[in-house]
Amino acid sequence: MNQKRILLVVGAHAADFVWRAAGIIAVVTKHGGRASVVALTYGERGESGELWKDPNQTVENVKRLRHEEATRAAEILGATFQCFDLGDYPLQIDAQVLERLTKLIRELAPDVIITHTERDPFNPDHPLASAAIQRASILASGSGVASGFSTIKPAELFLFEPHQPEHCGFVPTTFVDISAVFPLKQLAMEAMASQSYLHQYQTDIAKYRANHARRISGRTDIQYAEAFQRVTPQVVDIL
Ligand SMILES: [Zn+2]
Repeated sequence: MNQKRILLVVGAHAADFVWRAAGIIAVVTKHGGRASVVALTYGERGESGELWKDPNQTVENVKRLRHEEATRAAEILGATFQCFDLGDYPLQIDAQVLERLTKLIRELAPDVIITHTERDPFNPDHPLASAAIQRASILASGSGVASGFSTIKPAELFLFEPHQPEHCGFVPTTFVDISAVFPLKQLAMEAMASQSYLHQYQTDIAKYRANHARRISGRTDIQYAEAFQRVTPQVVDIL
C-alpha cells in the first residue's frame, strides 16, 4: 500500500481529533502523507470546561482560545486545522453545511476519513457530525456507479474511539501502533489546555489499547496504540 495517505479527520468539536486520532495523524504525516482536520464547532459551550471557570469568560473569547489551541495541536502533528464554527450543544446541520462538507471532500479526495461513532448517548453533537460526514462522503463519491455529478474515488471510513465505547456501540477492529509518535500526541494534548483533565486519561487509554494490539498481533514492541472501527468493507487481492 502507498504509505503517502491523504487523511481527513472530522470532529464535532475543536479538540476531538486530539484525543482520538492524534496518533494516526502523526503517523500519516511522518510517512509523507497529508492530514486535514475539520472541526464543525469549537466546542465552546460543551467541551471547554476549564475556560468557563473564569467568571468573566465570553463565548467569543473561548472560541478564540480554542482556535489557537487546536491550530497549535494540528501543527504539532503536521496537519492543517479549520473550523466551520457552526455552534455547539446543539450542533445544527443544514443543506448548506452538507454541501460545504461534500465540496471539501471532493477537493481533498482523501484515502481515509475518520469521524465519530453513529451513536453516543452522552453527547448530542457527535452522532450528528458522524451522519453528516457519512452523507457527504457518499455524495462526493457516488454510490459505486456512474453518476450525474462529478465523483471521486470512495474514501475508506473509520470511526475513532468515543469516550464511553460500549455505550456508543464501538467495536475496535483496527489498531494503529502510535508508539513512535506518542511524544507528539502528548504535546498536542498539552496544547489543549482547556481540557487538561483528559491528558492522563487518554495516555492510559493508549496503553490499554496497546495491550490489546500486542495480544492480537504478537508484536511485543507496541507501547501505545489508537483503536478504530472500520466501516468500509475491505477489498483485497489476497487474505
Ligand atoms: Zn466532542
